[in-house]
Amino acid sequence: MDNSKNQKHPCFSASAAQHYARIHLPVAMHCNINCNYCNRRYDCLNESRPGVTSAIISPAEALRRYQYHKQRLSNLSVVGIAGPGDALADWEETSQTIRLIRKYDPEVILCLSTNGLKLPSMADDIVKLGVSHVTVTVNALNPETGAKIYRYVNYQGKRYTGNSGADLLLYNQLEGIRLLVSSGIMVKVNTVMIPGINDHEIRAVVQKMSELGVYITNIMPFIPVRGSVFEKLSPTDRHKLDTIRSTCQTEMLQLLHCRQCRADAVGMLTEPKCNIQTDSKAV
Ligand code: SF4
Ligand code: SF4
Repeated sequence: MDNSKNQKHPCFSASAAQHYARIHLPVAMHCNINCNYCNRRYDCLNESRPGVTSAIISPAEALRRYQYHKQRLSNLSVVGIAGPGDALADWEETSQTIRLIRKYDPEVILCLSTNGLKLPSMADDIVKLGVSHVTVTVNALNPETGAKIYRYVNYQGKRYTGNSGADLLLYNQLEGIRLLVSSGIMVKVNTVMIPGINDHEIRAVVQKMSELGVYITNIMPFIPVRGSVFEKLSPTDRHKLDTIRSTCQTEMLQLLHCRQCRADAVGMLTEPKCNIQTDSKAV
């Protein structure tokens, strides 16, 4: 595994976060599953969480936005596509954007975030595009737990719900992660710690990811989002989050500086406003 690129990726290395900036380009609008904690309909410039963007932009606009910020930020080292939907569900937009960015900047690190449903069939395409870093969100190992988190899973023209949907998603996540790791892609796994839903199996998820050769895991606090199925659940208790993170640090590397960024975030993770797209000159 070539770890050298992690030294310039602020989400894969705490020291890189002190020196490098990243940009998320919000080109992927759609998603192929429905998580009970997700609601991408609300957008407010001051709202800072995954799935939020001020606007969906086209691949051509994404390139212009990147060019604008690259001139402004000499330490911009990573381009990520993190929704606001799923980067693989809108593959046309995602892949076109990546091609345009790569042609303009052969050096920049290319990164994608996905729920993993389409990974087994698309891992080769991801590798061929020159993407080096992929984040997969894995919230459960047991279908019974997954069934509480995922309302449905749309796959190859069919909708799956309950245990069968969760089982299918998990199978594809694990298979997809195996393929990525064996191709030399750096994989990060995000897990949202949802009180009373999946908090009992976070450690098992991390252990499994360690077995699969995942580079780092990111246990994220759950944010109750207005209009989502889980809007009335309590947020993750900070003390419990810290405890599970330190327990899991004995299994594998943990990301402890995640800012739960918007899908259009830009800047360094250490900046107070890094998570907000406020620049009116940007496309
Ligand atoms: Fe929302 Fe992401 Fe879940 Fe899709 S995978 S429903 S975008 S949280
Ligand atoms: Fe990095 Fe976390 Fe922000 Fe993703 S959400 S870009 S992992 S800091």
